[in-house]
Parts: sequence; structure tokens; C-alpha cells
Amino acid sequence: MRHAKRQQMAQDAAKTQRKKTERSWALINGLAAFCVLGVLVFGGYQAIMHPETPLPPAWNPTQPLRISDPVTPLTNWKLNRAAATETQCLSTLQGHAALRALAPLKDSDRCFISDRVDLRRVGHARLAPLETRCAIALRMAMWEQHSLQPAAQAFLSTQVTSIAHIGSYNCRAMRTSAGGSTRMSTHATADAIDISGFDFEDGTQIRLIADWNGAGAKVAFLRAVRDGACKWFALTLSPDYNRLHADHFHLQSRGWGLCR
Ligand SMILES: [Zn+2]
Repeated sequence: MRHAKRQQMAQDAAKTQRKKTERSWALINGLAAFCVLGVLVFGGYQAIMHPETPLPPAWNPTQPLRISDPVTPLTNWKLNRAAATETQCLSTLQGHAALRALAPLKDSDRCFISDRVDLRRVGHARLAPLETRCAIALRMAMWEQHSLQPAAQAFLSTQVTSIAHIGSYNCRAMRTSAGGSTRMSTHATADAIDISGFDFEDGTQIRLIADWNGAGAKVAFLRAVRDGACKWFALTLSPDYNRLHADHFHLQSRGWGLCR
């Protein structure tokens, strides 16, 4: 009897000891995990913030957008940030566009241009003088650099020298296939631009009205730059959308992601 009791007491003591050891290990593991996490966070912070960081600017979230940087998963987020404020937008475009900042225009409560610019060129492509918002100029510059010129090289072995447009600001209501609408168009605040074609260094001309339903390299170019616009603009409508867009791309800097 006494022997059984002693055995039980010994077992209990061993159990308590085991539990103590387990708790100690859990504590040590927790501390180790905390230290590893701390090192990772600190290392990551250093990698991003250090002036001599090996992280390329295009991959560094603390570095602003640069138009000629390679495209990374951060590019669109950086673009939206740069497009949101006039000073950021203008400084990003410096050296990549011919434009002049203008005073804001206000025709009415529904028709106005904030962050107004007079735009004449993005990258290597001229434009007929265009009054628009800086955000449109910035998205045009990204499109020219990362979609228009690469597609011109790939499909036509030449360079885009001029972008034909039919304006950005227009104080009017939306037009739909069913007729007019009571809602104002994004053109009423210059948050959109209509593009009708392109001229190239070798003399080639492409116009959406004549070439969208054609064949060969011109069509391949037009499809590629429409798809490219979907990356840089919030909403892109092409002749595929409806008959109202048979002769132009409607590119918008705000909206719900339509790409057609
Ligand atoms: Zn339009």
C-alpha cells in the first residue's frame, strides 16, 4: 500500500517536472520566434530605407514613381499615388512630357478642370495642344512608354511620333447607346481623353475609324495598345464597346475597371 502511494507521488512529481520543462521550451521558442521576426522586420526596414539600399527604386515602396522604370507589381499603386496630387504628378512628368501647368478652370459646379495642364508631348509622341488634368497626362506618359512605343516596335518596327486626339475637356452629359443621360460625362471634368489614331516615324498613319476592322500589323498594334491602355487607365473603351466609340479610344482616369 505504502509502496503504491510512493509510486504515485513519484509519477506526479515527474509529470509536474515535464510540464515545467514544456512551458520553458514554449517560452524559449516564443522568444526565438519574436527575435527572428524582429530581425526580419528590422532588415526589411533597413533594405527599404537605407540610402544605399540594393533594392531597385521600382521595387521600393518609399521611392516615387519614375516613368521610365521597369514595370513591377508596385507600379500601378505608385501611379495612382502620383496621379492623386498635382505637385507629385507634375514632378513625375518632369523630363517626360512637354506641358505647362495652368490655373484651374471653373465653368460651373459640374464643369471644371482641376490640376489643369496644357499638354503638347508625352515621351516621343507629340499631341495637338490639349487642355486636360495632370492625371491624364501622367497616364498618357505611362501608356506611351510602356505600351505604345513597345507595340510600335513589335508590330510595325517604327516609333510613334504623334498621337491624334479629339479632346479631353467637354462640358456635356454622358452619351449612351440609348441616347442622352442626365449624368455628366467624365469629360466634363477632363478626367478622360479621346484618342483617334497615331502617326509613325516611317510615315505610317493609323486611324481607328479606318483601321480597327482591317487586317495585319495595324490591327495587331491597335489591339495591343487598347489592352495596354487598360493597365494605365481606370477605364478604357474601344470600338469593341459600342458604335459611339467606332472612331476613338475613350481613356478615363477614374471609374470601374471596364476594359473593352
Ligand atoms: Zn470620351
